[in-house]
Amino acid sequence: MKVTEHIEQANGKTLFSFEIVPPQKGQNIQELYNNIDPLMEFNPPFIDVTTSREEHIYIQKGDLLDRKITRMRPGTVGICASLKYKYNVDAIPHVLCGGFTKEETEYVLVDCHYLGLDNVMALRGDAMKHEQYFKATKGGHQYASELVKQINNLNKGKYLHEIIETPYNSNFCIGVAGYPEKHLESPSLETDLRRLKEKVDAGADYVVTQMFFDNKKYFDFVKKARNIGITVPIIPGIKPVAIKRHLQILPQVFKLDLPEILIREIEKCKDNKEVRQVGVEWAIQQSKELVAAGVPVVHFYSMGKSDNIKEIASKVF
Ligand code: FAD
Repeated sequence: MKVTEHIEQANGKTLFSFEIVPPQKGQNIQELYNNIDPLMEFNPPFIDVTTSREEHIYIQKGDLLDRKITRMRPGTVGICASLKYKYNVDAIPHVLCGGFTKEETEYVLVDCHYLGLDNVMALRGDAMKHEQYFKATKGGHQYASELVKQINNLNKGKYLHEIIETPYNSNFCIGVAGYPEKHLESPSLETDLRRLKEKVDAGADYVVTQMFFDNKKYFDFVKKARNIGITVPIIPGIKPVAIKRHLQILPQVFKLDLPEILIREIEKCKDNKEVRQVGVEWAIQQSKELVAAGVPVVHFYSMGKSDNIKEIASKVF
């Protein structure tokens, strides 16, 4: 079922959902299940599965240019299929521009449709570690809005090449990313919101936000989005702070602000066990306020750990 249908069916009740990261190469899928199992009692209608960018390395071999692909965290689509049928939940693969040609994306989408996945999250992906800025993969997309267009075209039966004759009946519900504190590369929140509107105009059905720690940022963002005509659901993304180093990492990597009171509370902590508890309490307060405000879903970034998300969900849902 589509995310938008889950929201409609909930009839104003706030839903719980979360995102998982595929395990590192070689790890067993059972570890993933062990982290998901404790969260199923909160009835998530959908679970997101992130994708890591594939690295394409071109090697000259005589006259031939050989392309070697290093997959860092494999298995997004496979994991989605296993979650769908194991837990009877809608699993949402993240589909990236970076690292994929348009043809490869089409194959991924065909697989998703074949496996009965009704939703996909369309993202650009980040720059590679050795690059300062995001560079589109040769034959791939530069912006998520282009990827949304490709998915939407496929929903209308339009393949990249007109050689496939079988009618293709995908009808993906498309999610995209939104940034309450603006995307780190964007010159302003207003410009970034216009870019978000382009993704929605290209066919995106809902937005999931980047993490934020001050709900006011989310409420202002939604208001501004509505003012420029973005009418689709905007799902808040919540991440509990878990370690002291998050004080440096989160603002540095995501260019977001941490509220002064939260910083002070974390600084007072003797160890990461105490930090984790402060993070859980903060996320509980954030989530309760979001639920009271009637948000459609509270979406948690679990980063592969379920114990803190379980603690939060048990106080909120
Ligand atoms: P875009 O919407 O393409 O925007 C990227 C930047 O380009 C923005 O600054 C935007 O303002 C600008 N822009 C857009 N269109 C134009 C245009 N036409 N001209 C000029 N500028 C433009 N990353 C992963 O690698 N894997 C994941 O699974 C993953 N999941 C995520 C889930 C969520 C909910 C979120 C919020 C992020 C996720 N990310 C993931 C991170 C994401 O890939 C990065 O934040 C990335 O840098 C931007 O992706 P985007 O889809 O927002 O890009």
